[in-house]
Amino acid sequence: MDLEEISKLVKKNDSKIVYLVMDGLGGHPLNESGLTELESANTPNLDNLAKKSICGLQLPVGSGITPGSGPGHLGLFGYDPIKYKVGRGVLAALGIGFDLQPGDIAARGNFATVEKGNIVKDRRAGRIPTEKNKELCNIINQEISLGKTKFFVETVKEHRLLLVLRDENLSADILDTDPQQVGREILEPKGLTSDSDKTVEIIKDFLDQLRDALIDEYPSNFVLLRGFSKKPNWPSFPDTFGLKSAAIAAYPMYKGLARLIGMDILDTGETLEDEFNTLKEKWNDYDFFFLHVKKTDSYGEDGNFDEKVKVIEETDSMIPRLLDLDPDVIIITGDHSTPALLKSHSWHPVPAMIYSKQCRPDNVKIFGERACIEGGLGPRLPAKELMPIAMANALRLDKYGA
Ligand code: ZN
Repeated sequence: MDLEEISKLVKKNDSKIVYLVMDGLGGHPLNESGLTELESANTPNLDNLAKKSICGLQLPVGSGITPGSGPGHLGLFGYDPIKYKVGRGVLAALGIGFDLQPGDIAARGNFATVEKGNIVKDRRAGRIPTEKNKELCNIINQEISLGKTKFFVETVKEHRLLLVLRDENLSADILDTDPQQVGREILEPKGLTSDSDKTVEIIKDFLDQLRDALIDEYPSNFVLLRGFSKKPNWPSFPDTFGLKSAAIAAYPMYKGLARLIGMDILDTGETLEDEFNTLKEKWNDYDFFFLHVKKTDSYGEDGNFDEKVKVIEETDSMIPRLLDLDPDVIIITGDHSTPALLKSHSWHPVPAMIYSKQCRPDNVKIFGERACIEGGLGPRLPAKELMPIAMANALRLDKYGA
């Protein structure tokens, strides 16, 4: 059911919903144990909760589709990621609190290592520290001039940056310049239609000047751009679901996404401990909390099976603190799979559980990929169905029709 129809059924009560998202949670066996990261992890608390919950595997976007984290999260929040598309640029802008104006074009950038003129050697320039990123952004802002076009280059975190172009008649229909793989050539800026010609020329000019500006900065000697986009105008999450909603996330992109759909962003620290402290502190102020765990995905992307297991175990150790707050509904899942085997996001369905007093439990006793196949949510639930199920479990949806 789409958001507009669901919003007509919404009724209010004083229940509380917690949505715990372990980024890139789904995995794949890597070693002789034949177990995934989640199955390898010692997770007594998640397993206990799974016994009392309805479990399953969810498909963030669709069968065989590898989701980015943006669409992955939109699906979790009930937005059909095929209908509601948002570029990484806009997410990066919102995440650092950049005041994006209507008509602005935003792109996400990576400082990268480029050799032999245009071959990508490292897409993240060795994950440079944020301080170095700031230095590089200063150089770019000082050295580059685009005439009438205003531009903003802002540090996001580590190797990530934001580029915003501000001018009249700019188009966001621009393809990524990031080839997404090492050993490949940088892609030339290209537009999807002739309406993008002006914007393409501005980006080419920017990148030509950037190459000169960063010539002595090896290994951070170039920038790869992706996700050119403008700020969309969507139904708000709190209005649609009638939930006073807050996001607890350490990484900018997830704050940005939550802000885009109207959630309040709570100040928190870098660690899981900080995030769960924030949850407790603000417990009385909201109906709905989105709590984001990033490092499951980061270690998956690094191919670090063991560290991903540890992050899952650390998250498990926080579950008693969550239960102490006595939420009416708990949803635990990921925005996509990130198996260490593939060192990237993947298309595999993601384990999910929904707990409430009226969730009709199934036979799943372990929170893991294999076990969840047998669960009551089914082996391939579209992610956008999770919010309506959570709302029903919170007794916040009226019946449909007489
Ligand atoms: Zn993700």
